[in-house]
Amino acid sequence: MTDGLTVSFMTEVTARDLSAAIRNIPDFPKPGIQFKDITPVLADARLFAGSIDLLIANISPGSLDAVVGIDARGFIFAAAAAYKLGCGFVPVRKKGKLPFQTYEETYDLEYGSNTVAIHVDALKPGSRVLLVDDLLATGGTAIAAAKLLKRIGAELVGISFLIELSFLNGRDRLKGLPVRSLVIY
Ligand code: AMP
Repeated sequence: MTDGLTVSFMTEVTARDLSAAIRNIPDFPKPGIQFKDITPVLADARLFAGSIDLLIANISPGSLDAVVGIDARGFIFAAAAAYKLGCGFVPVRKKGKLPFQTYEETYDLEYGSNTVAIHVDALKPGSRVLLVDDLLATGGTAIAAAKLLKRIGAELVGISFLIELSFLNGRDRLKGLPVRSLVIY
């Protein structure tokens, strides 16, 4: 519904609505992977807005210094969440993408490894931050991002994912960290 200035939606979005919109793509980007495609959620104004509201439910605007998003789909949700919470947005990027001095963390993949980075001055020590990504699988990416935040001295008050692949046990590896996920497979 629109009055020209604001847009509001008649019904609240539920995790079930999000689940119905997420598309499973078998064998992408390689055989054996069930890729969870979140683009139908992004393309639907009501679902996109609702997904942000659910990712930040019970977090008061003004209570955080930043929302930290993980390269690349995490950026989309984290940036919208930051806008809604009235705080900054900080990117955790793949190695070699950030132009200034960085901290880096490397973690193992099934084959090979991956490195993520953050600008050394992206956050002040003691900053209160929420970490956001689209999907929790093995947890390697989120743990590496959490380590970057620890090195910078930030206080991680929560980690929010749109999707959790629970059979990969990422949540166990994030033990002790406040994890929220909206749609669990
Ligand atoms: P992990 O480090 O194993 O928890 O993997 C999480 C990261 O990989 C997230 O940034 C996701 O975007 C991506 N990812 C892993 N598995 C999938 C999947 N099945 N579908 C879509 N994205 C995935």
